[in-house]
Amino acid sequence: MKINHNFSALGQNYLFAEVDRRVCAYVENNPGREIIRLSIGEGCRPLAACVVQAMQDAAAEMGTEAGFRGYGPAEGYEFLRRAIQDEYARFGVKVDTDEIFISDGAKSDLTHILELFSADNTVLVPDPVYPVYVDDNRLDGRRVIYAQANAENDFLPMPNSAVHADLIYICSPNNPTGAAYTSQQLAAWVTYALENDAVILYDAAYRCFLTDPELARSIYQVEGADQCAIEIGSFSKRAGFTGTRCGYTVVPHSLNREKMNLNAVWRRRQQTKTNGVAYIVQRGAEAALSPKGQAQIQKDLNYYRANAAVLGEALDAAKTWYCGGKNSPYLWLKCPGGMGSWQFFDWLLEHCGIAGTPGVGFGPCGEGYFRLTAFGEKEKTHIAAEKLKAALLQL
Ligand code: PLP
Repeated sequence: MKINHNFSALGQNYLFAEVDRRVCAYVENNPGREIIRLSIGEGCRPLAACVVQAMQDAAAEMGTEAGFRGYGPAEGYEFLRRAIQDEYARFGVKVDTDEIFISDGAKSDLTHILELFSADNTVLVPDPVYPVYVDDNRLDGRRVIYAQANAENDFLPMPNSAVHADLIYICSPNNPTGAAYTSQQLAAWVTYALENDAVILYDAAYRCFLTDPELARSIYQVEGADQCAIEIGSFSKRAGFTGTRCGYTVVPHSLNREKMNLNAVWRRRQQTKTNGVAYIVQRGAEAALSPKGQAQIQKDLNYYRANAAVLGEALDAAKTWYCGGKNSPYLWLKCPGGMGSWQFFDWLLEHCGIAGTPGVGFGPCGEGYFRLTAFGEKEKTHIAAEKLKAALLQL
């Protein structure tokens, strides 16, 4: 028996577990101190009423002889794939229902999709970004190189033709910086991927937060992307499905590498390794995409947008540099007074009772930066913004 020693290449704790551990330790040492958590990457609003209704109806249907369903299709029910196809059509993107695969969330797909690629590929990951990409690849023993994102490139790294990569991650809007690409910028990545025979893994988990019409909703808005990109979506941030679990991956029919069709290979993989996602959950996701669902969900998204605006105003008033918060639920700020990310984490906890996420946890380029989320409750976010402004102004 040989263990996967790549586990030793990971940090001791997953970033968000480490933040939690430190906050809990602080609370234990400071009993009675109330902490406002602006560190959490999930919403606080309940599921939309029509989503709950659809899941209740589906549960009732399952309790009848005629409506009972057992194993569903590994790639997901046609009704949900059609609803996702319709949404793509609203972005002006044509996707076949056979190109859509339903899953229990983006995080699972982001790791499972790597089974399509051998361990000797070189992987290009934006820095900073959602830490899962790096960990997943390190576990498989792949070489990871970084595309540096910084204030000079507006946290939107562009391809470097002198560097070769086989797999390229793009997260737009980005977690944690909130930076999002235009179609013109994505076109440069598509050209680079085609020239390098590379595959792009495009994570669109936060696309529901895009408001600026200039910004790309999908990589498939770029010509040629269907020959080099896999896109991953989620119901978590857009519809509060973090606990309900539903996502999807688009693998185009025209995506071929080394004489293999990746759509066919992925279908085969799914048929072998999963029995799909609960019917009840898929009915809930379908309802989230309905006109009624969209209207209900927009109210929640606006709730978070208003939180982001409140936090942004506090940072503006304190003359603290930040980006994000406009097409994203995350605000990405420069730690004041030259503080490091974890130093600011401790400072913020101590002076404001606010827990955030240290930028360096998302990659080396995140050092000196910090992520705050707009996913918190409105009242607490207002209190946090006041405290933050007052403390920053006193620095
Ligand atoms: N992708 C990004 C960029 C994320 O930030 C997250 C969660 O925070 C996910 C994917 C995971 O999404 P899901 O809940 O669908 O697994």
